[in-house]
Amino acid sequence: MLANKKKADSWRKNLKLISHCPVCGRDYKSQAGKLFIKENDARFVHFTCHHCRSHFMAMVMVMPKGMSTVGMVTDLNLKDVQKLYKMSPLTIDETIEGYKIFNRPDFLKLL
Ligand SMILES: [Zn+2]
Repeated sequence: MLANKKKADSWRKNLKLISHCPVCGRDYKSQAGKLFIKENDARFVHFTCHHCRSHFMAMVMVMPKGMSTVGMVTDLNLKDVQKLYKMSPLTIDETIEGYKIFNRPDFLKLL
């Protein structure tokens, strides 16, 4: 039982690697990281820096031979991430339509 508990929480060890803000370089406060999605062996964590207010998202994957972490700086706050995660991905047709709109000569007038 202890081994399972250890494995389930082992992703938290990887969070120690994400101890400082990649934008300003200052240490995150302990409450900066929020777990927002937990799926199978993946954990998605969102960080907000209390110093520069930047946001960072990380995916922590627990694999049989260790852990892997992928992260990126984002302009999405935690509420945005939680909302957008539930939405369906863009279709190819929507992407093409968006491309056409952005390239219209009068695009700036549409705003
Ligand atoms: Zn920062």
